[in-house]
Amino acid sequence: MVVEKIVLELEQRLRPIRHLQQSIWIFDIDNSRVLWASDRALDVWNAGSSEELVARDMAADMSATVANRLKQYQADFNRDSSKNFQEIWTLYPDDAPATIDVVFSAFTLPDGRMAMICEAIGQQSEDAQALRSAEALLHTSVMITLFASTGEPLYRNPAARASANRSSQTLQQRFPDLTVLQSQDVSASEEIKVVAPVVTSAGKCWHDITARRCLDAASGEPAWLISEVDVSRLKSTEERAQFLAEHDILTKLPNRNHVSIEFQRLIDNHLSSGKSGALIFLDLDRFKNVNDSQGHASGDRLLVEVSKRLTAIADGKHSVARLGGDEFLFLFFSADRKEVATLAAQIQDCISEPIDLFGRKVVVTPSIGISLFPEHGRSIDDLMRFADLAMYAAKDAGRNSAVIFNQAIGKALTSKIRLEQELDTAISEGQFVAYFQPRVSAESNEVVGAETLVRWIHPENGLIPPDEFIPAAETSGAIAQIGKCVFEQAVKAQRAWLSQGFNLRISVNLSPLQFAEESLLDDLFEILRQHDASAQDFELEITESVLLGHDQQTITKLHTLVEKGFRIAIDDFGTGYSNLAYLHRYPIRCLKIDRSFIQSESAQPIVELIVQMARLFKLDVVAEGVETDEQLAVLQRLGCEEYQGFLFLPPVDQQTFSDMLHKGKQLAA
Ligand code: C2E
Ligand code: CA
Ligand code: CA
Repeated sequence: MVVEKIVLELEQRLRPIRHLQQSIWIFDIDNSRVLWASDRALDVWNAGSSEELVARDMAADMSATVANRLKQYQADFNRDSSKNFQEIWTLYPDDAPATIDVVFSAFTLPDGRMAMICEAIGQQSEDAQALRSAEALLHTSVMITLFASTGEPLYRNPAARASANRSSQTLQQRFPDLTVLQSQDVSASEEIKVVAPVVTSAGKCWHDITARRCLDAASGEPAWLISEVDVSRLKSTEERAQFLAEHDILTKLPNRNHVSIEFQRLIDNHLSSGKSGALIFLDLDRFKNVNDSQGHASGDRLLVEVSKRLTAIADGKHSVARLGGDEFLFLFFSADRKEVATLAAQIQDCISEPIDLFGRKVVVTPSIGISLFPEHGRSIDDLMRFADLAMYAAKDAGRNSAVIFNQAIGKALTSKIRLEQELDTAISEGQFVAYFQPRVSAESNEVVGAETLVRWIHPENGLIPPDEFIPAAETSGAIAQIGKCVFEQAVKAQRAWLSQGFNLRISVNLSPLQFAEESLLDDLFEILRQHDASAQDFELEITESVLLGHDQQTITKLHTLVEKGFRIAIDDFGTGYSNLAYLHRYPIRCLKIDRSFIQSESAQPIVELIVQMARLFKLDVVAEGVETDEQLAVLQRLGCEEYQGFLFLPPVDQQTFSDMLHKGKQLAA
């Protein structure tokens, strides 16, 4: 039906009431226009004639909030045509604001659509303040509701109306989690501010809620005035950020951050109810091998599988977390040693089941360290440290085993920590001193070079051998500094001896951790440059473990070192993987046969084999730890070119070494 026809029909039907003293109009919600108005209503709208008013399109002047509200009314009328709503309106008939109280009721148009009949029931006070606050209340997106103490809704502003899932929604239905609002003893001055889930017409949302006790202006009864702001989007971003901050992306397990907060909380709760428990630290044996030999995708898949298995064992009763790398934590709510041991065995069995990595079956085993609370400590940091230490004890015990922390391990820990702290001071005070052991030609017994071996000259404890502090320096990271300082002393010594007429090749040990250091190359070249030295005069001793990774970075590093002139030697050869053919792939120049082979007669065939293979691959061979003439004689017979050992000279300080050089072969055996 066209609008003109509707207007005409309304005109006829409503003629009898047109001259009433009341302002009444009919508003077409769909088309945002007035279809009919009583004479008095024309004043309200500041319209000269009914026709003029009907021709006005109100859509342009209407805010989105108002438009939505009207749609909402329309829907409500359709459901229940006996409903009516009351609003305070501000109109600007003569450019001056007029505030009126309007009641809206359902009105079905001749074409069947739902419109509304609007009735101005009174002019409000024109107090500017009241006017503005009424306006604000109507148009704000803040949801404002007045609830009776019983929870029945007394008033809702339009935003609250749109958000209520039904008009009768009670306080309890809207805020199921906020039991505090049901308590009677909240004082009037108290303001409750929370972010909580709210049941709305759009489902569950997170609202920032402010609630205050007040008196209902109409009845004088106590009531709740509640305002709400939707913070769902903020909340979900925050939740996601929170999840990411506390979970490991790969396995979705809680991460270290989560552990330090949440595990501590769980432990505290458990302890406060007088109970005890265990923290289980788990490290996968030789995980690095899988990662290096089968690629990171396989490594990742393995970690995911392990985390699934651990989660299954935890079965929702205990907590699992991934600390990073191949380290996992398991929080077990019993400190009964038998139960803990059973669980550890269960974890071992379950992890050691073959894992399918892209069609290839792999078996990994865990090393497990356990600390008990409160027996060993109450803080997650202490418990983690103790469990970690017990885990190292488990690795020492031959991997795939579980060890519960004990005092002996604890002692090792305290001295280890003290050591780590002392290392930094030792570096800054120059307590690391390079010693040198001659490398001697097996044929001529002439000194051809020297190996640099670090000593810690401790102010109280005297000379400490490297085996006692290198591992701690590796864990603390101090090894990089120590390594630089040793290399610099080696370079200085080489320059000094050269100036005295002795052209020696000096070898220096590089720890795997030092080798992995990003700045290694820069550091070495910088030291050479500072002392005007050349890489040709130096050999770097690395262990086979450095090569095991096969990773491109290692290979590139080795090639760069060799291009610049360094020689690379494999230290302690024979103790590791000892695959000569595989060594051939790397730019290696020299093998140092481990002293355990030199010193054991039964190992002679191995020494012989190494010497022959080395010759085949054109590698130099150095025998280490030669202590007797017999050992030297064997090496000479086998054709080994060089040796070191106490037989010729133990490692000595630079001055003693210089003296030895000047005295020539007199010192030699
Ligand atoms: P290594 O590289 O295998 O060094 C040879 C070790 O054998 C040295 O022990 C040396 O004193 C010892 N030795 C030499 N001749 C004989 C002998 O005839 N008989 C016996 N029984 N031993 C002999 P040291 O100096 O205690 O060093 C131990 C290990 O510490 C070294 O083993 C090396 O792996 C590491 N190390 C030493 N200095 C450094 C360094 O500056 N940096 C790094 N990263 N590691 C170092
Ligand atoms: Ca060495
Ligand atoms: Ca060695």
